[in-house]
Amino acid sequence: MKEIILCKYGEIVLKGLNRTSFEAEMLRNIRRRLKPLGEFKYISAQSTLYITPLSDDIDIDEVVLKLSKVFGIAKLCRAVEIEKDMDAIFETAKVYLGRALKNAKTFKVAAKRSDKKFPLKSPEICAELGGRLLECFSHLSVDVHNPDVTVTCEIRDNGAYIHDLPIEGAGGIPVGTSGRALLLLSGGIDSPVAGYMMAKRGVQISAMHFEAPPYTSERALMKVERLAKKMTDYCGQINFFCVPFTRIQEEIKEHCPEELFTIIMRRLMMEIAQRLAEDYELTALVTGESIGQVASQTMAAMVCTDAVCRMPVFRPCIGMDKKEIIDISYKIGTFDISIEPYEDCCTVFTPRHPKTRPVLAEVEAAQAAFDFEPLIKEAIEGITVKKFKIG
Ligand code: ATP
Ligand code: MG
Repeated sequence: MKEIILCKYGEIVLKGLNRTSFEAEMLRNIRRRLKPLGEFKYISAQSTLYITPLSDDIDIDEVVLKLSKVFGIAKLCRAVEIEKDMDAIFETAKVYLGRALKNAKTFKVAAKRSDKKFPLKSPEICAELGGRLLECFSHLSVDVHNPDVTVTCEIRDNGAYIHDLPIEGAGGIPVGTSGRALLLLSGGIDSPVAGYMMAKRGVQISAMHFEAPPYTSERALMKVERLAKKMTDYCGQINFFCVPFTRIQEEIKEHCPEELFTIIMRRLMMEIAQRLAEDYELTALVTGESIGQVASQTMAAMVCTDAVCRMPVFRPCIGMDKKEIIDISYKIGTFDISIEPYEDCCTVFTPRHPKTRPVLAEVEAAQAAFDFEPLIKEAIEGITVKKFKIG
C-alpha cells in the first residue's frame, strides 16, 4: 500500500501573520533533508504538510527518521490516503493495519473529521469502523483507555487517512527563523546539547572550536568535527571554525596567576569568538555552561567572562543537571562521540586550584600583565573554516 507522511505543525500555527515565512523555512529544511532519498510532492493544508513519495523504492523508515529531527514538526503520521468513503476506509484499515490488529488483543478507533461535509460525525465513524473491524478480527476487544492498536481515521479536505498512533516530532520552531549564533563547541557532552537547544528555538548555529596542538591531537580535532557533523541531523548545515589557541594558552601560563588561568583563557575565547561572529553577522554566542558544574562555571566566573562580551551569551544548559544534559545527548546521538577520551585545550592547562570566586578587577589586572592583542589577531588569521552539510 502506498504510504504518505503527514507532518503536523507545532508552534508554527500560533505565528499569526509570520506563519507563512515559518512554514516556508520549515519546508526548505525538510526538502534539504529528504532530497538524497528521492522525489516527493509537498502540499500544505490544515496545519499539516502532506509528503507523498513519487516513486515506490523510497525507504519510508528513513524518511520518517529524517523528518523526526526537523524542528517545527510536532507529530508525524505514516498514513494511507483513500477516498472519503466508509467501504474504502474499512478495507484500507483492514489491510494497512491488518498485521498489527492480528497480533493485538485490544484496539480502539479514533476519528477526526475536519471536513465537516462528510456525512458521519466522528463518534459515528468510530462506531461503524470499529464494528466492522470487530467482525473481521473477532479475537479483538475494544479498550478505549489503553489499546494495543489505535486505528486512526482522519477525514480531511484532501481525502481520508488511516494511520496508527502518531510519532513524536522534534517540536520547536524551524531552524533559520530566529537568527544566527556562534556556538563554542568543545569535545565534551554539554556544548553539542547547547547547540541543539538553540537550534530547536530556530537559531542557525555555526560552531567554533579552540585547539592547542601539540597539547591537543589531530584525533581530538577529528572528534569535534564528527560531533559537528552529527549535530547537523538537527541543526542543519554548520559552518565550523577552528582556532589555533596554543600560543595564547602558553602566554597565559607564562604571565598570569595560575588560579586565574581558566578564567582569563575563557575571556580570550569569548573575545576571539565575538570578533569572528561580528564579521559573519552572527549575533550571539552560545556555550554549554551549566551553573556550578566546574570552577569556571560559578556565577562569579561567568560575571568575569561576560565582562568582555559585547553580544549576548546564551547558555541553554545553565539550569540543567548533568543527567538531564546526558539524556539529551543520548537522544541526539552525540553522547557516544563526546565520551571518547580525547584531550581538550581547557583540560591540558587546568590550574590545580582554580579560583571559584574571581573578582573582575583582579582578573582584569592579571590579564593586563601581557598584551594579548597581537596574539588574538594572529589566532583569528589562523582560523580554518569547514562546512558540514546535513549527513
Ligand atoms: P563541554 O561538555 O561542553 O565541554 P564542560 O562541562 O567540559 O563543557 P568546560 O570545559 O568548562 O565545560 O567548557 C565550558 C564551555 O566552554 C563549553 O560548553 C564550550 O561551550 C566552551 N568550550 C570549552 N572548551 C572549548 C574549546 N576547546 N573550544 C570551543 N569551546 C570550548
Ligand atoms: Mg569541556
